[in-house]
Amino acid sequence: MLANFLHTNNLSQKMMRVVFSIYLVVTCLITSLQLLTEYLKTQDAISKELKQLEETVRDPVASSLWQYDHSQVDVLAAGLLKIPIIEGVDIINTHGEILISKRAYLSSSAPLAMFDTQSDLSWMLNEQKIYLGSLTLYSSSQVVLDRVLFGFALIAITAIIKLTIFFGLFIWAFDRYLAVPLKELMIQVDEVQWGQNVGKRIQLSNVENNELSELQTHINKMLSVLEKDRKLLLDDEQAKRHWLEDAVAQRTEALQISNEKLRNLARKDSLTDILNRGSFFSEAQHLLDCALRQNSPATFILMDLDYFKVINDTYGHSVGDQVLIHFTQTVQSFLRKTDLFGRIGGEEFGIFLPDTGLDDAFSLANKICSEISRSSLTIEGKTVSYTVSLGVELSCRDDYSMADIFKRTDVKLYGAKNKGRDRVEK
Ligand code: GH3
Ligand code: MG
Ligand code: MG
Repeated sequence: MLANFLHTNNLSQKMMRVVFSIYLVVTCLITSLQLLTEYLKTQDAISKELKQLEETVRDPVASSLWQYDHSQVDVLAAGLLKIPIIEGVDIINTHGEILISKRAYLSSSAPLAMFDTQSDLSWMLNEQKIYLGSLTLYSSSQVVLDRVLFGFALIAITAIIKLTIFFGLFIWAFDRYLAVPLKELMIQVDEVQWGQNVGKRIQLSNVENNELSELQTHINKMLSVLEKDRKLLLDDEQAKRHWLEDAVAQRTEALQISNEKLRNLARKDSLTDILNRGSFFSEAQHLLDCALRQNSPATFILMDLDYFKVINDTYGHSVGDQVLIHFTQTVQSFLRKTDLFGRIGGEEFGIFLPDTGLDDAFSLANKICSEISRSSLTIEGKTVSYTVSLGVELSCRDDYSMADIFKRTDVKLYGAKNKGRDRVEK
């Protein structure tokens, strides 16, 4: 417990220890000085008392000596020793011989220090003073201390009582006015810290207008600044997040558009903007599979522009390109949304018609053929006419892939070419 008291982290106990130690040292010093002064004063007083006693007994002792009444001198010396302040009596004759030497203590327990008063013993005869010897009365430090310590014991007891009350009050007051509010302050600061709640404010119970209330105000001001900074940071972070979200959204949209473009580029023919060979065959295959599954008719039309090489050679390659675009747009004007149209090769095109029988497909092919044959284009100031040959084929149960129906349709197209072009074969 003492070790705890000496090495405590408790502020009130630590302060009490420091104050107590200083107070104790100062009190000890002052008390020692007081004790010394008191000792000297008491010793002086006892010396005076000795002197008075000596004056009182000097004449009876001198008279006994004059009468050579040694027993009387003995009795007187013994009587003197009984007085509390007298520790010893010495009577010396005119020759310096010790007649009586008595002590109130044993030689084994002699006091620390002795002091004495000495006076001459004389007898008046015919108005003449006859010297008889000397009388010495002794007192000791023990006598002085006995007297001084009694008074000091009272002072010490009162001092200890006062000290105990003082320190009790000190600890109570310190705890009540400093330690308890400080502990409460620490708990509330911890709550703010662990709860990450800078919106909370310190509110001490029992706060008076003193340094603690100022500390509370300062901490609350600091919390307000922190709250403001935090809000600014959060706003800034939110603005950045919004900006980032917008940027990501814009970027995603741009990427989606790019992907769409890329997908179209991959699916479509760049000149005519219809399906290219690869995507046409893959999508046509899907439609063919559906038709077979649903047992519904589907037809395939293969078209090849006639003497296209001649058009290129005659009017130039760019005119040839315009003819290809014109052909595409003309065919598209005849098609339904569900029909599939694609560029299979240079000037070769295909149409896959789901839910369409051979007659309807043949009719459509003839319309296309006539429309192309009828049309004439004016490109770069030149009038261009062209024709197309078409082969039409109906899908059958054995058509497991587009290659099967394509082969048969190609034969029909070859037939149309052989029969003079600008016609349809089914
Ligand atoms: P046929 O009636 O027998 O089909 O004769 P053709 O001249 O149409 O057939 P051929 O296969 O001999 O020629 C096809 C030409 O199409 C050759 C090629 O230069 C041309 N061609 C292919 N792709 C393009 C293109 O994208 N643009 C242009 N302008 N010409 C193309
Ligand atoms: Mg060709
Ligand atoms: Mg051709």
